[in-house]
Amino acid sequence: MAYDDQNIFARILRNELPAIKVYEDDQVLAFMDIMPQAEGHTLVIPKTPAVTLLDLPPEAAAYTIQIVQKIAKAIETALNAKGIVLMQLSGAAAGQTVPHVHFHLIPSSVHELGRHAVQMGDQEKIKALAEKIKALL
Ligand code: 5GP
Repeated sequence: MAYDDQNIFARILRNELPAIKVYEDDQVLAFMDIMPQAEGHTLVIPKTPAVTLLDLPPEAAAYTIQIVQKIAKAIETALNAKGIVLMQLSGAAAGQTVPHVHFHLIPSSVHELGRHAVQMGDQEKIKALAEKIKALL
């Protein structure tokens, strides 16, 4: 599928739209999900323009998963998470709503997950959670 460089995450990467960021390097950005399925729901995205995991070059995928693990560790400690759901939706049929590949880190049990991308979170509360995670990165 062709990459649309006007998608929301591409615009966040170019700083055209705001995001509550917890980590950034030259290849990856991590920021808080605006409609969290649980407190601390964080997104990790490679900077490489790719729609789904299947479009992402293996080297970029390998690096991104290392950062996913690093952020997961910070979430676990910062939020005292008992478990973390790692979710990756590839394709609209799978439920993907933003066409730039991303990994969800959701401190929760799979049995207690809120609904996907429906309810705006309290942005002040999300900022406070982000500060706790950021402090460990
Ligand atoms: P997908 O459905 O593509 O797997 O996940 C997209 C995620 O991006 C959803 O969990 C949704 O809540 C989140 N999201 C959508 N728009 C924005 C936005 O403008 N900013 C942030 N931070 N998250 C967003």
